[in-house]
Amino acid sequence: MDWMEKELAALTGEGLERTLTWHAPITDNPGYLLRENRMLLDLSSNDYLGLAGHSAVVEAMRQALFVEGAGSGASRLVTGNRRPYRVLEEQLAAWQQSEAALVFGSGYIANIGVIQALVSRDDVVFSDKLNHASIVDGIALSRAEHARYRHNDMEHLRSLLNRHRDKRRKLIVTDAVFSMDGDCAPLQELVALKREYGAMLMVDEAHSGGLYGPRGEGLCHKLGLSNEVDIHMGTFSKSFGVYGAYVCGSHILIQWLINRARPLIYSTALPPSVITGISQALALVQDEHWRRERLSAASRRFRSMLGEAGFEIGRGDSPIIPIIVGDNAKALRFSSALEEEGIATVAIRPPTVPSGTARIRFSLSAVHSDEDLNRAAAAIRRIAIELGVLRS
Ligand SMILES: *Cc1c(COP(=O)(O)O)cnc(C)c1O
Repeated sequence: MDWMEKELAALTGEGLERTLTWHAPITDNPGYLLRENRMLLDLSSNDYLGLAGHSAVVEAMRQALFVEGAGSGASRLVTGNRRPYRVLEEQLAAWQQSEAALVFGSGYIANIGVIQALVSRDDVVFSDKLNHASIVDGIALSRAEHARYRHNDMEHLRSLLNRHRDKRRKLIVTDAVFSMDGDCAPLQELVALKREYGAMLMVDEAHSGGLYGPRGEGLCHKLGLSNEVDIHMGTFSKSFGVYGAYVCGSHILIQWLINRARPLIYSTALPPSVITGISQALALVQDEHWRRERLSAASRRFRSMLGEAGFEIGRGDSPIIPIIVGDNAKALRFSSALEEEGIATVAIRPPTVPSGTARIRFSLSAVHSDEDLNRAAAAIRRIAIELGVLRS
């Protein structure tokens, strides 16, 4: 085991070591958290709509616990398929206007399970270079060829599609909103290419489900493309504030996944109380449009404040807003300086992002006030000047 100590020391030397820090929610002060017992403005979690601490969700889970017990006891294919699953999957299919829906244990599990079920050795997966790690892992497990195209580069994708014309099955997979950059995939063009080349299209709405569309259906729906996407995937761990994931699509797709998605078959079903909590969160996601509107307004505002301060900030209204620092150690110094100012952020470093693009990733929530965001933008500007990330 000696090698481990050496490798860890090397990681520390490169500013790449990761450590666990304690956090606790503050129930009467949403948008803030406790880190090592200090109250900080939370600009780093993915609770976009502020539902993680919502009393209706917590209460629904509490009641379900008394009826259904703590655990589901087995995989859904054995005895773990409890009634809350049927309620939720019907609700999901209606929400997404798809034929059927299937719940998975988490977004990570859904991606590895679905990709592995769809393709194998004779096939090819076209995947954006900035897609989430769970997609990368799903492709590796599937043993299909991994054709990575440059981020959002449709010409590059087309040339790879041409090169792999003869493969048995083709799958194009993309994040709808990219988790570390906050930009969107060109879904319209992806749909056109998938049609032209007879490929399947899978879209991961982890950071767009709940946030876009009149009832939070996601980016595909907002763009009127939901019928063109074969496999819709999204998580309940971000804007839903709970845990788990969904896949929506045709009856045939769902039937296939029930037969072939290994994490669904070989892993114990999420506790029924979690499923009930998701159902309640989904009702709030659909009905409380003001949360989306507030988040979108806050995101635009925060983007424009940082833009005026001199940062290069992409346009749009996604709540994921990165400031690229470049150097790993400097990104760490940036986040510690923000913490001194009472703001919790995380320095995102390789391998989560490409080397040389370490960054501070801000993520906003509907519960943040304008005052919170003003204070944060001022602190970010001051620290960036001190660290030489911005010129004064
Ligand atoms: C977070 C995330 C996942 C994983 O979801 P979990 O529910 O946290 O496991 C998958 N895809 C993308 C794009 C993500 O950002």
